[in-house]
Amino acid sequence: MNQGPSLERPLSFVESVGINGIAPSGRQGFAPSDLSDRVLVLCWHTFLGAPDINTDLSLAKFGAQLDTIKALGYRFITIDRVLAGDISGRMNIAVTIDDGHRTVPRAIERVLVPRGIVPTLFVYPAVLGTTDFSMSDTVLAQLVATGIPVGAHGYHHLYVNEALFRSQPEVFMKEIYKSKARAEGLSGRFVLVYAYPYGSYSPRTEDEVEKAGFAAAFAVKPGFVYANPGLNDTFALPRLVVTHDNWADILQLLQRNAALP
Ligand SMILES: [Zn+2]
Repeated sequence: MNQGPSLERPLSFVESVGINGIAPSGRQGFAPSDLSDRVLVLCWHTFLGAPDINTDLSLAKFGAQLDTIKALGYRFITIDRVLAGDISGRMNIAVTIDDGHRTVPRAIERVLVPRGIVPTLFVYPAVLGTTDFSMSDTVLAQLVATGIPVGAHGYHHLYVNEALFRSQPEVFMKEIYKSKARAEGLSGRFVLVYAYPYGSYSPRTEDEVEKAGFAAAFAVKPGFVYANPGLNDTFALPRLVVTHDNWADILQLLQRNAALP
């Protein structure tokens, strides 16, 4: 007999999002009403306007995506509010931008600031200020001074998983501990949230990130972050990377979530 998805266990993406746009990722045993306060966390990367790079957008397209999200009725909330569980209703989006690319400051200035949106920047110190790829330390500090939060994203942007721990345990630890210390040095703020490079992690990674003093970490997987912390996997929170290929799917999810009664 097909009884449909049960709320006694986390739902798979297909059975939950496909049906009603809700995908709890954390603990079991909760009332459906607990699901009502939630945020979708989205991740962008670079803004070169290179159509052949799946994670790259022109500033015009980035702005158009944000305007589409806003037109559906969503409000943009900061990562600080997400971590504090200060989330009201289902129409919330948090903007994150990974890797500290050199095009990010211009995207903030021209696209995000005019729309009143505060992103979170996940940076990895190995490239910051040392390569043409990334923004400089100084520019990052200037952005932080305007109130933009910074999160850790590894030190060298490695796969921080069990294979790395087994082959190079000291490198594994550096990706967690030194990334935190350096990001804090660069930003002058406590860095409390980690985003796993490539979305790669293991149970050991989650444990070590927690031990290092992070309050939460983002994986790359579908689902909402809920105001009720009991519904979240705190060290493997869901987040979706925006690409050319998946934008239509993300938009459909946003539309379904918006259309719920
Ligand atoms: Zn990255």
